[in-house]
Amino acid sequence: MIHGSSTSPIAFQWDTWYESVGGRTIQIKEVDEYLRQIREFQYPRFKGEVNPEKTTFANNQEASYHIKDLARALGADEVGIALIEPSDIYKGRHVTEPFAIVVGQKMLWREFQQVPNERSAIECLRVYFTLGEVVIALAQEIRKLGYACTVEHPIGDSDVLHVPLALKAGFGELGRHGSIIHPTMGPLFRLGSVITDMPLASDSPIDAGIAQFCDTCKACRIYCPADAIPDERSPEAGKDHLGNDRYMVDTGRCFPYFAKDHYCSACLVVCVYNHKEWARDFEGFKTSLFPDLQLKESPKPVDPETEKHWYPQRKR
Ligand code: SF4
Ligand code: SF4
Repeated sequence: MIHGSSTSPIAFQWDTWYESVGGRTIQIKEVDEYLRQIREFQYPRFKGEVNPEKTTFANNQEASYHIKDLARALGADEVGIALIEPSDIYKGRHVTEPFAIVVGQKMLWREFQQVPNERSAIECLRVYFTLGEVVIALAQEIRKLGYACTVEHPIGDSDVLHVPLALKAGFGELGRHGSIIHPTMGPLFRLGSVITDMPLASDSPIDAGIAQFCDTCKACRIYCPADAIPDERSPEAGKDHLGNDRYMVDTGRCFPYFAKDHYCSACLVVCVYNHKEWARDFEGFKTSLFPDLQLKESPKPVDPETEKHWYPQRKR
């Protein structure tokens, strides 16, 4: 049994979270419909019978390859495996499974051409739903192989923290905006996990120079309408998987804005890593190089001497 550590955050509760910012004010019928489908159609399928006959593999690496192939075939855009540690578990929760299979699915850049906006909010929920289908189907396949597992749905109230697990599983690096930046998917993707006692080989974190790039780029900080993204790394925020002090996003400033204005997402769309491959959408749709930010309140003039569209020059 692995228990959450004393320094882990408490489990995420959407209702409490909305109450803390004065109630849920985002009312979009497509969002509500996805939430209903997740609650009524997906939650009942989290559990299932485990096949008493176990399938064995030549070794743990072979088992991992098999699981990753399965996850991709079921619709994952990225998949990695991490060993679960107490710091990966929410405070007060405990799990028996030692491995997390972390899956990611891209959100479509064309839905983030104007933010904050209903379309980007709907896209977040669409991917919560489709990624939910991936983790449910993957769990069913693992049970057919004879191994117990638990669905950790992307929408929240899970036992494990998807972000540190995804960092250990090699998804990318932690950006200044507090989200993972994947070397090719950028920051616009969602995460879910299946945790299991199936013996697997774990992946390793990567160093693609992304965290280092964040030390000179400040685009997300400049555009954040809530002034929630910091200028400097904070030693008190703990270390990232590369041993750097983390940037500590001020959630007390971000959440009220995020909750009231279509889940904001400004920091994700201005992130330079979106532009690397995305002059066209993943599915070939022509999109603009830079999104149209429609903020209810103009961003405060953070670093006023820095030009708005300035990014550091660096060969990659
Ligand atoms: S979601 Fe919006 S308010 Fe929150 S950190 Fe990002 S840009 Fe700032
Ligand atoms: S916008 Fe720049 S500083 Fe912010 S996370 Fe992206 S690369 Fe890092």
